[in-house]
Amino acid sequence: EREEPTHFGAGPAQLPTEVLQQAAKDLLNYNNLGLGIGEISHRSKDATQIIESSKQNLKELMNIPDTHEVFFMQGGGTTGFSSLATNLAAAYVGKTGQIANAGYLVTGSWSLKSFQEAKRLHVPCEIIFNSKDFNDEGKFVDIPDESLWEDRVKGKKFSYVYLCENETVHGIEWNQLPKCIVDDPNIELVADLSSDILSRKIDVSKYGVIMAGAQKNIGLAGLTLYIIKKSILTNIEKVDDTLLHEFDIPVTPIAFDYPTVVKNNSAYNTIPIFTLHVMNLVFEHLIKKGGVEAQEKENDAKAKILYDILDAYPNFYNLPVKPNARSRMNVVFTLKKEGLDEKFLKDAAERKLTGLKGHRSVGGFRASIYNALTLASVEKLVQFIKDFAVENQ
Ligand code: PMP
Repeated sequence: EREEPTHFGAGPAQLPTEVLQQAAKDLLNYNNLGLGIGEISHRSKDATQIIESSKQNLKELMNIPDTHEVFFMQGGGTTGFSSLATNLAAAYVGKTGQIANAGYLVTGSWSLKSFQEAKRLHVPCEIIFNSKDFNDEGKFVDIPDESLWEDRVKGKKFSYVYLCENETVHGIEWNQLPKCIVDDPNIELVADLSSDILSRKIDVSKYGVIMAGAQKNIGLAGLTLYIIKKSILTNIEKVDDTLLHEFDIPVTPIAFDYPTVVKNNSAYNTIPIFTLHVMNLVFEHLIKKGGVEAQEKENDAKAKILYDILDAYPNFYNLPVKPNARSRMNVVFTLKKEGLDEKFLKDAAERKLTGLKGHRSVGGFRASIYNALTLASVEKLVQFIKDFAVENQ
């Protein structure tokens, strides 16, 4: 039992209470087995059923076409950075017998970290643009218009092009995918959806790979979800390791080798089945709520009232992100007056509004309004933001 939380932390984030209640029961005694879900073999009938059901529910929620496969892997977003780089570099070698640079669209700290990991691993790569270079402030505050950088892509070969759809730290979101990437049939788009998966409808057919850590919109930390175009899996399988050695491209560690994981139905090694079960309960909860469409409507409404109230006090609140790149998941803001930051957090906590401190690299505040945050919770925050401005102007 608990009161409905109003926790705006960036992740791990709050989950639907109903999901956690069910999960707590199943941790102790699953399906009347007399054993908890974490205590049974990952190859048992019950575990296999959870894997199958999770895949099926996700396919339904995201309308995933037959061209794509779903799998789950241990780790988080950062393990995704590493495994994407090596698997996708191998896929390109498998497809072409050659190497090319991966291209990274850098719009915040997570896409930058992902690029740095590819580089560290010796995967051929380059930054197509860093959005810091496109504004006078030299900061991550917007996404440059495609016309300003599309020449760097046209006619060039890339093993893949990478972007982070929602930059959790800076509160910057791609509100539409870049056309010069998605319209080029030779480019595989690889996207990190860790902080916006299932928050809105997307067209999965436009992506080569989608990767998302679980601990924001879909569950507990420890498990990462992947949606991959089947032809990429085939291309990875075509490569033998000696060719990768010749090109000085790292061979992927076995537990993170996508074809191996897929062939073994996400259970090549011991999948954290409790964590997957929680994710599946989140999927079922979302289906009951009306699916992604209903969730998207609610998310849009939540983001709108929050940005509207912050915009309503321009002398008091500062919104660093340009309107067309504002995230619907992580709303970043600062106070114009100095010396009030501590008070803001303290007063908010008195109303049980928690998790609002901005990332240490950015400062200020960040309200993360993932799927599990209800409109009513966001309304409470809106009221507080208004009252705080009025009382402290
Ligand atoms: N990508 C994004 C968009 C993130 O927000 C995060 C974590 N906040 C990560 C990757 C890294 O995830 P993890 O901590 O699970 O490695």
